[in-house]
Amino acid sequence: RITLTGVSRSFGQVQVLHDIDLDIRDGELVVFVGPSGCGKSTLLRLIAGLDRPTKGIIAINDEDVTRVAAADRGLAMVFQSYALYPHMSVRQNLAFGLENARMPRAEIDQRIAEAARMLEIAPYLDRRPGQLSGGQRQRVAIGRAIVRNPTAFLLDEPLSNLDAELRISTRAELAALHERLSATMIYVTHDQTEAMTLADRIVVLRAGRIEQVGTPLELYNRPANLFVAGFIGAPR
Ligand code: ATP
Ligand code: MG
Repeated sequence: RITLTGVSRSFGQVQVLHDIDLDIRDGELVVFVGPSGCGKSTLLRLIAGLDRPTKGIIAINDEDVTRVAAADRGLAMVFQSYALYPHMSVRQNLAFGLENARMPRAEIDQRIAEAARMLEIAPYLDRRPGQLSGGQRQRVAIGRAIVRNPTAFLLDEPLSNLDAELRISTRAELAALHERLSATMIYVTHDQTEAMTLADRIVVLRAGRIEQVGTPLELYNRPANLFVAGFIGAPR
């Protein structure tokens, strides 16, 4: 369970997030949508504990994230910019966090093989990120989260660099993964189709504030305002 209470974040004089309250249940797939610059990535980084709120509290299972060691949070983030290690092979990128956690080699190899098969990156395991296409890198970034077997995935536009076909198949893989692991997922996108097909609940953000939270059907049938209607693509 992830709970945000009165979360605000400012950079200097500029307030980017305003008083966000949100409760995410275990196993839920919550999608954050909203225009570029509305604060989606900032919010995700706060939940990941990579940044601290200026005001308010983020708790995972009732514990303040900033007080839990990164390795014990059970979170894995997939960054919008991949954040792969350029000097390491794909295999080493996937293994890195697991080696640090002193996982036995056989288990590391097994997890990598499984993720590679799922994401169709097995042929690239011995290449470096610089030798991959954007879409291949993106799948490696997703793989790096999967091998950690987290209780919650934080995904920042994980499909944005994939072509249409791969986007649909990877989306289905992520949905299946969500079902299989019953992992919590917080998923940032500005693709309405992605939001509508994947989400248990959608959080619509605008200029650092929550406009509306609801199931895809609720937002479609009863958008709180024109902004939400426009974003969801509901007829009005
Ligand atoms: P996009 O859809 O383009 O990825 P976003 O919703 O993820 O956008 P954020 O990256 O969260 O948006 O940024 C929200 C706002 O905060 C933007 O105006 C951005 O310029 C600002 N911002 C983000 N990080 C910082 C920072 N470290 N210092 C100053 N301003 C920042
Ligand atoms: Mg972003």
